[in-house]
Amino acid sequence: MASQKYPIEKIAFIVEANAYLTRKDDDIQYLLFDSRRIEVASLSLFFALESNRDGHDFVIDAYRKGVRNFVVKKSKVSHSTLSDANILEVEDPLSALRTLAAFHRSQFSYPVIAITGSNGKTVVKDWLYQLLSPDYKIIRSPKSFNSQIGTALSLWQMSDEYNLAIIEAGISQPGEMDSLEKMIRPSMGVITNVKKAHFENFKSKKEKVLEKMKLFQGADLLIYSPEYINGDSLILPQTKVFSWAYEVNADLKIENRTMGKGGVQAIRACYREKDYQIQIPFQDEASTENAVICWSVLLSFGVDPLIIQERMWSLAPVKMRLEMKQGLNNCTIIDDSYSCDISSLAIALDFLQQQKQHDERTLILSDIPEIGKDKEKTYKKVAELLENKGVDRLIAVGDDLKEHAALFKANTTFFSNTEDFLKAIHRSDFKEETILIKGARSFSFEKISNFLASKIHETALEIDLNALENNLRYYKGKLKPQTKLMVMVKAFSYGSGSYEIANILQFNQVDYLAVAYADEGITLRAAGIKLPIMVMSSDSSSFESMIEHNLEPEIYSFELLYLFIALLSKKGITSYPVHIKLDTGMHRLGFETNDLDNLVELLKNNQQIKVASVFSHFAAADDPSQDEFSKQQLTTLCSFTDNLSEELGYSFMSHIANTAAITRFPAAEMDMVRLGIGLYGINRFVEDDNYLERVATLKTTVSQVKQVGPHDSVGYGRKGRLPRGGQIATVKIGYADGYSRRFGNGVAKMMVRGHLVPTIGDICMDMCMLDVSNIQVKEGDEVTVFGLEPRIEELAKKIDTIPYEILAGISQRVKRVYFYE
Ligand SMILES: *Cc1c(COP(=O)(O)O)cnc(C)c1O
Repeated sequence: MASQKYPIEKIAFIVEANAYLTRKDDDIQYLLFDSRRIEVASLSLFFALESNRDGHDFVIDAYRKGVRNFVVKKSKVSHSTLSDANILEVEDPLSALRTLAAFHRSQFSYPVIAITGSNGKTVVKDWLYQLLSPDYKIIRSPKSFNSQIGTALSLWQMSDEYNLAIIEAGISQPGEMDSLEKMIRPSMGVITNVKKAHFENFKSKKEKVLEKMKLFQGADLLIYSPEYINGDSLILPQTKVFSWAYEVNADLKIENRTMGKGGVQAIRACYREKDYQIQIPFQDEASTENAVICWSVLLSFGVDPLIIQERMWSLAPVKMRLEMKQGLNNCTIIDDSYSCDISSLAIALDFLQQQKQHDERTLILSDIPEIGKDKEKTYKKVAELLENKGVDRLIAVGDDLKEHAALFKANTTFFSNTEDFLKAIHRSDFKEETILIKGARSFSFEKISNFLASKIHETALEIDLNALENNLRYYKGKLKPQTKLMVMVKAFSYGSGSYEIANILQFNQVDYLAVAYADEGITLRAAGIKLPIMVMSSDSSSFESMIEHNLEPEIYSFELLYLFIALLSKKGITSYPVHIKLDTGMHRLGFETNDLDNLVELLKNNQQIKVASVFSHFAAADDPSQDEFSKQQLTTLCSFTDNLSEELGYSFMSHIANTAAITRFPAAEMDMVRLGIGLYGINRFVEDDNYLERVATLKTTVSQVKQVGPHDSVGYGRKGRLPRGGQIATVKIGYADGYSRRFGNGVAKMMVRGHLVPTIGDICMDMCMLDVSNIQVKEGDEVTVFGLEPRIEELAKKIDTIPYEILAGISQRVKRVYFYE
C-alpha cells in the first residue's frame, strides 16, 4: 500500500535473502501474507508466514492468482514448481518482513508516534488524527492493525506525502516489544493504560510494563500516567516525560470534572501552574481518559491551549467496526461511513467480496480526503482496487472523484455531494444487492445509511464477526493440521445468522458445514455457499431438493437408505456422498452396531451412494463423571468404522467430537470434528475462557422511565412492588423476542449505564420493566440484555437451562447486526 515501489533486487538485498531471481525487473508495491487478499498480483510480494496455518501452503494459490514474488523459508518451496517466479529464501519470513518495514521506516525523518497500552489505543490514535490533522499530514495504522504484521504493513505505508505517522503497537507475548522497537523506532511514545485483563502471558504487571518500556528506548518523549506505572523505577533516565493524572501530581493534573446537559463534560486541569478547561462531548470514563491522553499529546506538541479547547469540543466518536445489516428491498448494507482512506477501503472491499448472498455489489464512495499532492495516483489505485474486488456499480460522491471520472470503468454515477445524491436517488434504485457505504466523515454518509437500511426495531442481536474468527482460529489451533473441521450452523447458526456466518466460515476455509434441515442448506446455497453441507434431519420428502442443491444427507435408518438409493437410481446418479449415523449411546438417531452386516451387504456393491463419513455423537462429553461412558462410545464407533471400511474396500471420514470433546478428548479428534457452541464463544471450561471472545450481545432500549410510589404495583397481576417507592424503566424486549418469562420478578438483570439492574414484575410479550431506582436513566438509553455482562451462561443458570436454548430461542423479529473490523 506504499505509494513507492521497490525493485525486487533491492528487497532481496535488504532482507539478506538467498535470492533466485528469474524476473529481475519486477517492482514491489504491496506486501502480502494472505493469498485471499491480493490487491494487485503483479506488484505484490508474498511472505509465507507461519501462524495458525503455514503460509507456505498458500504459495501455490498466490502463484495461481498471478503473484510472482515470494519470501519463503529455506528449502520449503521447490524452485522448479515456480520456475518463472522470484524466490527469496530466508531463515524466517516474519523477521524478513520486519526488516523490510524497518528499512522503509528509516527512510523518513518525520516524527513517529507509537501508542501502546491495554485499552484505548485505537481511539487515541484516531482522535490524535482528528486533533492534529489541521497541522500535519498524517499517516496512521488502519483500523486496529496492531499485531506485528499489522505494524509492518502500517509502516510500509509511510511516504513523503506525509509528515507525521501514528502507529498502534499491540503486545501479547513477552519479548515482542524488542522487535517492534527495531521496526517502529518511535520518536514519541504514548502509554494509554495498563490493565490486569491483559496479563495472561506475563508473570506480573511489572514485567508487562518493563516490556512496554522497551518500545520507547530511543524515543525523545514519553507520555504516561503515574497512576498506571511507576515512572521513577521504570522510565529510562534519558527520556523526557509528560505525565497526566487524576489523583497524584503530574504535568497535566486533572482537578475537576462536571457533567453537563446533552452528554457534555467539562474537564478542568492544571498545566504549568495555570488552569485550563476543555469540554468534550463524552461523559464515560474511557472516553475521558482517552481525551486527557490526547490533551497531553497536544500540549507536548506545543499546540496552543486555546486551540486545543476548540478542537476537543468537536471530537467525534470513533466507530471502529463496519456494520452489516438488512436494508430496503432485500439489500444487505455494509456501513463503514466514518472514515475513508485507501487502506480501510481495501479492508472493507475484502469484506464486501466475502459476502456472496447477492450477485450484485455496489459501492457508494466519497472523495478520499487528505491525500496530498498526487490525487491522480490515489484514484488510479482506487479504480484498480474496485476492479480487483468485483464491484459492479460505483456511486461516487465528491468533486475529486468526479474530476477523475475517466479512471473508472462503466456503470459509475457521479454526484458532487451527499445532498445531491440523496435528492436524486429513489428507493427502487437498489434491490437484492450488497451495498458498501464508505465515506469520509465530512460527507455525512450516515444519512445515506439511514436512507438505505431498514428501520431497526431497537432491539438487536449484535454479532461480532472478529470474535467469531478468533474463536474459529482458537479451535483450529487445537487440532492436528490434517484434521478437518465441520462447523454446525444449524438453527440459524445458534441464533446468530445464516449466510452472514456461513460466508465468514467459507472465507476462512472450514471444510464442512452442517445444518439441521434441508431448507437451511438451500438458503445457504442460494447465498453462494459452495462448501459441502451435511443435513442432519433429512427425510425422504426433502431428498429431491437436497440432490438439486448438492446437499449431503445424514442417513440414520435402513428405510431412509432404501428410499435414497431408489431415488438416485431413478435419476441415474452414482457415488452420491452420504453420512452414516451410528448410535453409540445417545439413543436419538442412528443405526445400531448390530446393523453392520446388513449395512455392509447393502452398501458393498452399491453404485448410487458413496459413504463420505460415518459418525456418532457424544451424550455427555462435557461431564467428567461420564468419561467412561464417552470412551466407550468412541471405542464403539472406531470398531464399527474399521469393520465397515474394510468390508467396503474404501475409506471415509469418521467423526464424533463436538465442542466439549475438542477440549476434553483430543483422542476423539478422528478425521474431523464438529464445532458448535464454542464458535460462538460459549464454553464451560476455564482453560478455553481466556481465549474465547463473546460473539453475541443482545441489546435493547429504554422506552419510558417512571416514578412509582410505595403502594403502586408494576405490570400484569400487580406482581412488581417497590416497598419504598422508586424508579422503573420499560424496555423493548419481551417473551415474544425470546426473553423468557422466567426472567421476570428480579430473576435476571440487565446492564444500563454501567449498572446491573433487576427486572421487576412479569415479563410481558413485547416489553418488560427494570428497577432503576437511584440510577440516572433516560428514554432511549441502551440496555444490554446479555453480552460481556451479564453473561448468557449466568442467565441460563438462573432459569435452569443452557445457553444453547436462550441463543436459539431469540426470535426472528430481533434484528441481527454484524460488526467487523
Ligand atoms: C449440535 C451438534 C454438534 C455441536 O455441538 P456443540 O456442543 O454445540 O459443539 C455436534 N454434533 C451434532 C450431531 C450436533 O447435533
